[in-house]
Amino acid sequence: MTERATEHVTCLGCGCACDDIGVVVKHGRITQANNACALGAAWFGDGMVPAEIRVDGQAATLEKAIHKAATLLVRAKRPLVYIAGDVSCEAQREAVAIGDRLHAAVDSLAATAAAAVLAAQRRGRATATLGEIRRQADLVVFWAVDPSERYPRFTARYTGERRASRAVIGVDVGPSRGPRDSDLRVTIAPDDEVDALAIMRAIVAGRDLDAAERFESAVDLARRMMRARYAAIVADGEPSSAAADPDRAEALVALAQALNGPTRCALATLRAGGNRSGADAVLTWQTGFPFAVDFAGGTPAYRPARGARVLLAGGEIDAALVVGSPATLPEDVAEGLGGKSVAVVGPRASAATFGPGVAIDTGVAGIHECGTAFRMDDVPLPLRASLPGPPAALNVVRTIRERLGARTHE
Ligand code: SF4
Repeated sequence: MTERATEHVTCLGCGCACDDIGVVVKHGRITQANNACALGAAWFGDGMVPAEIRVDGQAATLEKAIHKAATLLVRAKRPLVYIAGDVSCEAQREAVAIGDRLHAAVDSLAATAAAAVLAAQRRGRATATLGEIRRQADLVVFWAVDPSERYPRFTARYTGERRASRAVIGVDVGPSRGPRDSDLRVTIAPDDEVDALAIMRAIVAGRDLDAAERFESAVDLARRMMRARYAAIVADGEPSSAAADPDRAEALVALAQALNGPTRCALATLRAGGNRSGADAVLTWQTGFPFAVDFAGGTPAYRPARGARVLLAGGEIDAALVVGSPATLPEDVAEGLGGKSVAVVGPRASAATFGPGVAIDTGVAGIHECGTAFRMDDVPLPLRASLPGPPAALNVVRTIRERLGARTHE
């Protein structure tokens, strides 16, 4: 048979993790990804990925590469395990176990949304699944984000239905604008953003403020949100919003909490793809912390101010294991890995630009490998493979972990 269709495939092209994709394979290549947006279609591509295994730049056997990876890790004085994109939660769990065994620092792509995660840890967070927002919200406020750019199907899947009974408000903060087709637009100057959110919170709490006159549109928005039966605030948790006020995330968390008095309000944070929300969840199950976990003292310690970026920039790391696609690494992490003893196990590992000593190409979770991934609202979803591929990341990482032996507490 030269044509095969797989239904209910999950796309990891962005954090929406759409699980309604129909993948058609003809003559060993993906020819259709039905329901996928352009970003998702690009993520699936034709399903072809390299299947190389390299040690010191030369082709090698899988056995030799695994041996070399285990050796460089076990000899490291200050190892780092970094969880990159496009691997399943099952492979991520093995990576965390390696970090534990090595007394390593462990970090992941989840750190790209550190501001939102830390704000939620400090204050708690009033949130909901995207399914609940789709069913319940009669007012959706997109705060300085238009999902159509980096989360293309978010609106159609979660806020576009029942538009007649749901109002959409776009808040524009400098160049970060809400959706073009919003029913109402509110413009806030970037320097005023956090003050405006504080004023909105005060209005929700019933205070009458003189300063509120200067923030008339924000005050009107707060009052409109209080009148809603169920309001949702949608904000971007990812780096393109790094130019935003660093206190934005916390101010939004506080506003959403305050609104859960006069009405119901949920804060939804948009996350990028590659199963980074899974890395957050797996690290939290295994260690109690979502990113920047350090096992150096023998037990997991939370070091959010000393994650991979800081440790690499400070020259503290001498060897690293990257589990996941090197193309998804933040630029400064990829740069920091240059010149170190590094093993990469993941999709397109052989294309890593920082010259790893060991590169083992694996399949892509959700295309060649089954398992579990998390949507941006922390809902776990099954991954269905539609094509055979190179060795599975889970199997390779697990074998490296087994080679390292049991934890010794030396
Ligand atoms: S919206 Fe995101 S998850 Fe859905 S098909 Fe597009 S890229 Fe894939």
